[in-house]
Amino acid sequence: MKFKPLFITATNTNVGKTHTTLKLLEALSLQGLKVGVMKPIETGVEDIAHDANLLFETAKRYNPALEVLKLKDIVPYQFTLPAAPYVAKGKKKINLELLETAYAKIEELCDIVLIEGAGGLLVPIEDDLYMYDFIRLFNARTLLVGHGELGCINDVLLSLHLLDALGVDDYEWCINFKESRDNFDKITLPFFISLFGRVLSVQDNLDEIIKSLVPCRDIDMDVL
Ligand code: GDP
Ligand code: MG
Repeated sequence: MKFKPLFITATNTNVGKTHTTLKLLEALSLQGLKVGVMKPIETGVEDIAHDANLLFETAKRYNPALEVLKLKDIVPYQFTLPAAPYVAKGKKKINLELLETAYAKIEELCDIVLIEGAGGLLVPIEDDLYMYDFIRLFNARTLLVGHGELGCINDVLLSLHLLDALGVDDYEWCINFKESRDNFDKITLPFFISLFGRVLSVQDNLDEIIKSLVPCRDIDMDVL
């Protein structure tokens, strides 16, 4: 069974992309899928690429076939400066073919690959390359993760407007509640309910998020 990869992005850094990717990895693995992970570019890497390492070590526990890979296969580009790749990479060029080759190497060991972006969708990589370009590069479905604090309406809508403007239609969005959602329910939920009719969260709706992004028709197409 092969599924389109999921590209996990967020309204900002530190919102919960890695946390959400780990939750998806666990849930999809428990559903019987062989899951791979990739972090195309990680910045702020001193001794080890922490996000990629955490994803890789967890993924190997569920999918031992990944043992043949090295951390560098999971995170082909690592830079020390904790900055947008455009700045952190200095004079180095990000080679998209290299990233496609790295993805293919992971993909052949998996049913589905979870790709964690860096920062948010408009994080610059090259003069003519932004984080959102990875959606098309990997032909991925997208999960936008938002925070649950004051300001999240604006942050979520800005990213959703961008996805719409880009013509990306197979995306889902959710909120990652790091702490209690009581305040969110009071100050934010009414607007989201009015606009969307529902709000999915990493904490309460992982199954629905998965159903939305890993639809059964993928399986049907595979069977037919
Ligand atoms: P990313 O930069 O978007 O990948 O964000 P992370 O997933 O690394 O999350 C940022 C920080 O918030 C990390 O220290 C996480 O451990 C923490 N965090 C993320 N989600 C949760 C959560 O649901 N609960 C708690 N307690 N901490 C969280
Ligand atoms: Mg992360």
